[in-house]
Amino acid sequence: MNGVLPVPATAAAIAAAAARLRDGELVVFPTETVYGLGADATSERAIAAIFAAKGRPRFNPLIVHVADIDAAGAIAEVDDRARLLAARFWPGPLTLVLPRRSDAMISRLVSAGLDTIAVRAPNHPVAQALLRAAALPVAAPSANLSGQLSPTRAEHVAAGALAWRVAMILDGGPCPVGVESTVIDMRGPTAALLRPGGVPAEAIAAVVGTLAGTAMAKGAAPPSPGMLSRHYAPSRPLRLNATAAGPGEALLAFGPDAPADAAFNLSPRGDLREAAANLFAMLHRLDRPGVAAIAVMAVPEAGLGRAINDRLRRAAASGDDDDFDRGPAAPCILPDLEDGPS
Ligand code: AMP
Ligand code: MG
Repeated sequence: MNGVLPVPATAAAIAAAAARLRDGELVVFPTETVYGLGADATSERAIAAIFAAKGRPRFNPLIVHVADIDAAGAIAEVDDRARLLAARFWPGPLTLVLPRRSDAMISRLVSAGLDTIAVRAPNHPVAQALLRAAALPVAAPSANLSGQLSPTRAEHVAAGALAWRVAMILDGGPCPVGVESTVIDMRGPTAALLRPGGVPAEAIAAVVGTLAGTAMAKGAAPPSPGMLSRHYAPSRPLRLNATAAGPGEALLAFGPDAPADAAFNLSPRGDLREAAANLFAMLHRLDRPGVAAIAVMAVPEAGLGRAINDRLRRAAASGDDDDFDRGPAAPCILPDLEDGPS
């Protein structure tokens, strides 16, 4: 038995997917960051289906995808600072947390009961075409079960449990950025970095000044409810700052000084952009029988390296210090892929 198979994202397929979204169904589509599990953000029922399909805790709000700043302005209060950031980085991998407009026709579940809304205009041509064809704001978390590795290829989605729970999977090839969007909280006097991602924090700070951090006191309400300590995780243990593979481990290397027996190298030339694009696909490939643990070499904590290290730290977290409900335990959905990442 098979789940839904990916279809090439032709104009006809995008039109069909837009119609499915308008009918309240779930559609997987490519963005420049990762593949998204999309649903009509104005439909409480469609949004409830996203949470159910992913096993996502309902306190973790969703990012609403729009085609452009005008569409964002219809659902959120866009002030001058937000406008400046959108002008510089949209469409692109930047999410802004803004006050919800009181007349926003957006499901309450999307915001997890908060009076804010997270919005982003993706720059992937398929995502843009889909948003314009559907003419809807589309809520779209990553198209994986809650807590697991994000999909950066349609095959990752097709191989997992979500393929049984969606109406369509649009295949637009590998995601060029490969890590999720940077999330910036725009409510306070100082913009705050909630999650490092595809736009380097340094580039955002260059526009709006120094960003406030998000040190999260244990037991305190998280500034961003989705910041669970364990997330983005393969089913095997991950060991960080490795210099060599231990017994049974597969080494995920970075840079030109990698040991010869490394399983994969995120970027042999030490390029963070290339490493981000490879990160999830290589973790997917190493999360397989015969690998006891994945050892990862250090990645510099700057630019896109912040997003890479954030994902690696959460993937490696034991979850013991996690005060929050992570939702139901999800079955392993990762296949034993034989072919190499291309
Ligand atoms: P994901 O969809 O899993 O890539 O994660 C979306 C991220 O955006 C999570 O960390 C959420 O907690 C965060 N987020 C979404 N909406 C809001 C919001 N209204 N306020 C704060 N954080 C948000
Ligand atoms: Mg996710």
